Amino acid sequence: MSKHYDLLAIGGGSGGLSAAERAAMYGKRAAVVEMGRMGGTCVNVGCVPKKVMWNAASIAHALRDARGYGFDVLVNDFDWAQLVKGREGYIQGINDWYGTYLKDSEIDWLKGQARFVDGHTLEVAGKHYTADHIVISPGGTPMVPAIPGAEYGITSDGFFALTEQPQRVAIVGAGYIAVELAGLLNALGSEVDLLLRRQHFLASFDAMLRDSLMEEMVSDGVNILPNINLERVEKGADGKLTLTAQGGHTLSGFDALIWAIGRAPNTAELNLAAAGVAMDEHGFIPSDAFQNTNIPGIYVVGDATGRAQLTPVAIAAARRLGDRLFNNQPERRLDYENIPTVMFSHPPIGTVGLTEDEAREQHGDAVKVYQTRFTPMYHALTAHKSKTAMKLVCVGAQERIVGIHMIGHGVDEMLQGFAVALKMGATKKQFDDTVAIHPTSSEELVTMR
Ligand SMILES: Cc1cc2nc3c(=O)[nH]c(=O)nc-3n(C[C@H](O)[C@H](O)[C@H](O)COP(=O)(O)OP(=O)(O)OC[C@H]3O[C@@H](n4cnc5c(N)ncnc54)[C@H](O)[C@@H]3O)c2cc1C
Repeated sequence: MSKHYDLLAIGGGSGGLSAAERAAMYGKRAAVVEMGRMGGTCVNVGCVPKKVMWNAASIAHALRDARGYGFDVLVNDFDWAQLVKGREGYIQGINDWYGTYLKDSEIDWLKGQARFVDGHTLEVAGKHYTADHIVISPGGTPMVPAIPGAEYGITSDGFFALTEQPQRVAIVGAGYIAVELAGLLNALGSEVDLLLRRQHFLASFDAMLRDSLMEEMVSDGVNILPNINLERVEKGADGKLTLTAQGGHTLSGFDALIWAIGRAPNTAELNLAAAGVAMDEHGFIPSDAFQNTNIPGIYVVGDATGRAQLTPVAIAAARRLGDRLFNNQPERRLDYENIPTVMFSHPPIGTVGLTEDEAREQHGDAVKVYQTRFTPMYHALTAHKSKTAMKLVCVGAQERIVGIHMIGHGVDEMLQGFAVALKMGATKKQFDDTVAIHPTSSEELVTMR
């Protein structure tokens, strides 16, 4: 006999765990199917290890800057293996915590790979489980291009498995993962080439952010190579990699090559056809505003939706779905507009709302933009200086703020509160009426002319 649940979640990552937690919170019987480590991408090979590495890189920068503030710093060594060991220990702590938490919350962990048998049944490790509601949240996997020698490269998963620091690294990609890995490896002392297929990276970001970051990364020593289309990768007898691009251009001497060219959803192995759940041509699962798939009782949250692939988005969508299904809140759903996001580059980027180009497309001449660029006071005494740039995109006579874009020291911790203001419909006048906090960089956001 198969075991029956109120809710089964496929994937013990940000989305699946949150869906099961909400169901259990409302007294429902819930289980999570997870074939790997509990916590999913974010905890194991995403946000968490990435932020630890970014912290390490920020400390490297602070050590560089310390001399200007009078510290006679002598750094003898940087032990990559120790950093990785510490990081993995920290993650193991989170994994262990999840085990206890699930038990305490009376959520079952079904270990193994889930496959649909029909619209209400999953097969996991040879057993069948049924549920009234099934939430699909299998996340994604990094993609590798189909070119000869691609297997000599690693992905972000492989990056987090490195126990030795690569001295010379090529990173291929133009999204936030490529840019973040390039920045942190460079700060930690690797020689980094960032290979872009086109002229720019971060296509969906405001142009001011793209251009400022490009400038900062180049001044920090990252070698950014635009318009490179790789055709093959070869490994020499010395273990070094040579990359050949279209047009015969070659780059050689790399210890590591990291593919950061996008992520594909983990939907191919789910046997979705058995339940009749539709996929698009990329494997993403289309859903309506309430996370419903085309099949009643089956929902999708997180990266597999193909929308705003961020941990808090997966969590928020799953929690609201739980409220709707089990707490009589029929209109409860995630609003996908104005999702704030931070990129842990060096310096970091914080952005929410419409870019200037998007605002002009939507609102034409009603758009007014305020911007500023300055050297933050942190750099008053440092030899290496980086700029901070900020932009407010406003619309209409009221100058409602529809976009906030920032790059610079500390903006990662600055954005959250300003995102609340934007979401509430704040105007430029309301920003101006707020008394500044001095001396900070954030005060510039309420004093812009
Ligand atoms: C390098 C990197 C850095 C990132 N940094 C950030 C960041 O700073 N901030 C941020 O918000 N987001 C970040 N993200 C994105 C974030 O990790 C994802 O948006 C988030 O994890 C998505 O959650 P999810 O529930 O959709 O999937 P996941 O967290 O990927 O979880 C899916 C889980 O499902 C399991 N699974 C898949 N198929 C099956 C199956 N058939 N049966 C059983 N189990 C299955 C997988 O093993 C996995 O554990 C980062 C991602 C990466 C790769």
